[in-house]
Amino acid sequence: MKKKQKALVTGATKGIGRAISQKLAQKGYHVYLNYHRDHEAACSIENTIKSEGGSCQLLRFDVSNQEEVEKSLQPLCQNESLAIDVLINNAGIMEDSTLVWMSPGSWRKVLGTNLDAFFYVTKLVVKNMIVQRKGRIISIASTAGQAGMKGQVNYSASKGGIISASKSLAQEVASRGITVNVVSPGFIETEMLEGLDFKKIKNQIPMKRLGTANEVACAVMFLASEESSYITGQVLSVNGGIYM
Ligand code: NDP
Repeated sequence: MKKKQKALVTGATKGIGRAISQKLAQKGYHVYLNYHRDHEAACSIENTIKSEGGSCQLLRFDVSNQEEVEKSLQPLCQNESLAIDVLINNAGIMEDSTLVWMSPGSWRKVLGTNLDAFFYVTKLVVKNMIVQRKGRIISIASTAGQAGMKGQVNYSASKGGIISASKSLAQEVASRGITVNVVSPGFIETEMLEGLDFKKIKNQIPMKRLGTANEVACAVMFLASEESSYITGQVLSVNGGIYM
């Protein structure tokens, strides 16, 4: 019998991560749903997936805390039957201010959650992919990591780091049948953008609208699929034309 494919989505319980998790489960993956604080949101996506006949399991850990990451993922990574075939590095936060007013804490917190986490999680998961000689690693960056954005020096640095780290890793593991790619969303209507002036933002976007979490998830699903087998080290922008 063919073994069930497994996927880990970090920050799986809201917005983009939630949409990706639901689609992966609909495709037949067993989905490890990582989250940090909001247990109610986590139960909600777990219930949705299970009510659709999908298979998933909650994994609560802080992606920026190496000890927590190792404690949660090592048991999966050491057991071949539980190991992860598709990794989606999605968890991310913003803490905006101009550089002059940015605190060292704010710099570290954003870099820790958005970039250190790439190192902690991917390092553990990729080992088994190398043994299996297959795997998909997809990380969520941002237009800010490609073009920069005022008030987001910390966030842009973290997302630019994800892009270049992914390109380097793609070269390291390409001969092992593992692809490493990035999806880079523009403005997507999720909790993360709460409080922003959508009318002003829409005017700057050639398509004159924000994107949906579902539109980002569709791009991720393509890169996770067999159909993308010769694509690695790439950045796929999902941004309504705001950065070309
Ligand atoms: P949301 O704020 O809607 O959701 C964030 C998710 O990440 C939640 O599930 C949250 O779980 C989880 N999370 C946050 N911190 C941690 C942590 N330390 N450890 C584990 N999980 C954590 O974000 P979006 O869906 O909008 O964003 C998803 C990704 O897309 C991010 O990387 C973001 O930077 C990127 N992005 C988003 C854009 C947008 O316009 N929305 C644009 C470009 C990129 P909990 O609530 O339990 O902490």
